[in-house]
Amino acid sequence: MSQYRPFTPQDAIELAKTLPGPFAADANLDCHEIGDGNLNLVFHITDQNSDKSIIIKQALPYAKVVGESWPLSLVRARIEREILQEEYRLCPGMVPEVYHYDDDLALTVMEDLSDHVIMRKGLIEGVSYPLFAQHIGEFMARTLFFTSDLGMDQQLKKEQQGRFINPDQCKITEDLIFDEPYRIAEKNNYDSSIEDEAEALRTDGELHLEVALLREKFLTHGQALLHGDLHTGSIFVTPESTKVIDPEFAYYGPMGFDVGAVLANLLLNYASLPGWIQDETALRERETLLLNMVRDVWTEFESRFRALWASELVDPMAKTPGYQDLYVQQLFRDSIGFAGAKMVRRIVGLAHVADIDTISDATERERSQRKSLAIGKALIKNNRRLNTIGEVLDIVSTAVSTTKA
Ligand code: ADP
Ligand code: MG
Repeated sequence: MSQYRPFTPQDAIELAKTLPGPFAADANLDCHEIGDGNLNLVFHITDQNSDKSIIIKQALPYAKVVGESWPLSLVRARIEREILQEEYRLCPGMVPEVYHYDDDLALTVMEDLSDHVIMRKGLIEGVSYPLFAQHIGEFMARTLFFTSDLGMDQQLKKEQQGRFINPDQCKITEDLIFDEPYRIAEKNNYDSSIEDEAEALRTDGELHLEVALLREKFLTHGQALLHGDLHTGSIFVTPESTKVIDPEFAYYGPMGFDVGAVLANLLLNYASLPGWIQDETALRERETLLLNMVRDVWTEFESRFRALWASELVDPMAKTPGYQDLYVQQLFRDSIGFAGAKMVRRIVGLAHVADIDTISDATERERSQRKSLAIGKALIKNNRRLNTIGEVLDIVSTAVSTTKA
């Protein structure tokens, strides 16, 4: 049994040398720590004499937050590794392959995806990903369907739920998404220029009721094994390929939480665009492209999810006419509500998005923040009465026009 210690790059090289393949015993290895080091270490190991490379990700036993640190269980490394293996089985090629792991050291050795870029960065740079909606629709449909009571043995699912109990990570979500943005809290983080917006979030009873309902769903609805943090910073892309990383927040929760994460992060990028593109025509084109991606992510996901239901269902009662439509309708509404909550927290909560925070013009940045909040609040408030993605896009456009006024 190995004793946990945080690795140095040298430790990572030594471990890499002991692995069966990919490196020769006398290989000349280089190692750089490429993570941001807040929760995990990420070592990129390359062989100077071949094109072989690997990634070693190791969990740290704390999170550095606003200058201090809070303890965080290392169990999440085992959970992250197991869900990567499960996702690889369900969607081969859509997550890094796990080559090796050590649960005592809280580390996973995995495929190097450095030929892809983090999607958030690609979107900020204006790159288009025409296959993304299909890919992520497929990923979410398969991972969510086949880990739910619809698509797997229901007794096995109960056992699996036990293995994926992830209380420390869930608590972060519960605090940062479903609590702190709606009250005065030390970890909240926003410019004083939008204090009026923050104040409005704290005093809006209609909004609080919807957030309480979404929070309850996150706390109690063990529908499927979620990725748990499916934002554009956890997705590696090229125009041809999509790979999902970083499922350390995985647990059994409501399916809409993953779908909503993707939609929210596309909408945050949409809201940021005037801060990045000056030319009016180019701006309109890019805005349309982002909104089309939002529409396509939902429709691609829905059609694949329904197709799996038609061919792979394990629960006879779920064949009852009408049930699939009600299930998908609720999943859609959850996705929209969670998307809204995720947008709000990225503006006033602890963790922001680079799409908006790195806009250099302060006025444009503030506009994007206000626009994101308007969209987020409208999605939260309307989630329980929405039926189609077209209605969602109408709500986005109304929210945007009221921000401009
Ligand atoms: P954290 O949870 O600490 O943010 P991530 O898993 O998101 O860790 O990894 C942090 C960064 O390390 C990523 O943004 C990416 O740049 C790099 N990284 C992580 N996994 C891989 C991988 N399999 N291949 C290449 N780079 C990776
Ligand atoms: Mg992470």
